[in-house]
Amino acid sequence: MKRGLVIAVDGPSGVGKTTISRLLAERLGFRHVNTGSMYRALALAADSAGVDLESDAALERFCATASVCCDASTEKISVNGKDYTPYVRTQRAGELASVASARAPVREFLLAVQRKAGEGGGVVMEGRDIGTVVFPDADLKVFLDASHKVRARRRHLELKGEFASGEVSAEMEERDRRDTGRRNAPLKMAEDALYVDTGLLSIDEVVRLILNDIRERLGIGDIRS
Ligand code: C5P
Repeated sequence: MKRGLVIAVDGPSGVGKTTISRLLAERLGFRHVNTGSMYRALALAADSAGVDLESDAALERFCATASVCCDASTEKISVNGKDYTPYVRTQRAGELASVASARAPVREFLLAVQRKAGEGGGVVMEGRDIGTVVFPDADLKVFLDASHKVRARRRHLELKGEFASGEVSAEMEERDRRDTGRRNAPLKMAEDALYVDTGLLSIDEVVRLILNDIRERLGIGDIRS
């Protein structure tokens, strides 16, 4: 049976992935799945259960009985029945996620959760390895990028001045280093991805550019705008 379209949106933190993916999903009438939230919630849950996030054996044991539920319409995310939605966007969740996401048992576990969440298609899925690992046969792959300076400024604003800008910038640099340098599914652009530098474009311009690409490449004419 033919599935609906899968749009993969990858890129480093602070490029506007979530805002752009949400808008794309809305215009296309698709589900939006944020895989970063899954890594964040799972890392928070493992950490609060006292699991060593650098131990593959401990993470494997934790993942063996873990259950992750994400509701694409409300974007609520829970692990083992606990709602982590209010905590996933914090700086701490991002740091823990970046450590845990480098470990094979965590990636294997969430890969299955993500493939299931994308089953049937009609989905815009965002993350770091969606176009390279999770859905290498996605109908459209988008790689969003921007300079470190632009991304650090956006993340600083997003965190509402909770941390000094230098601190946000240094943490982002460390996270980028871990995400691109890890052995398991590192952040990298798929060869056939559409590359978009979001630094000089407004959110609307980026969304329009991607929708135009979808129309041209995939021949969809009835996109809501
Ligand atoms: O996108 P977001 O900043 O919420 O992701 C948090 C962290 O989760 C990233 O820094 C990365 O380490 C990890 N991640 C990943 N693969 C994904 C999505 C997120 O490794 N598909």
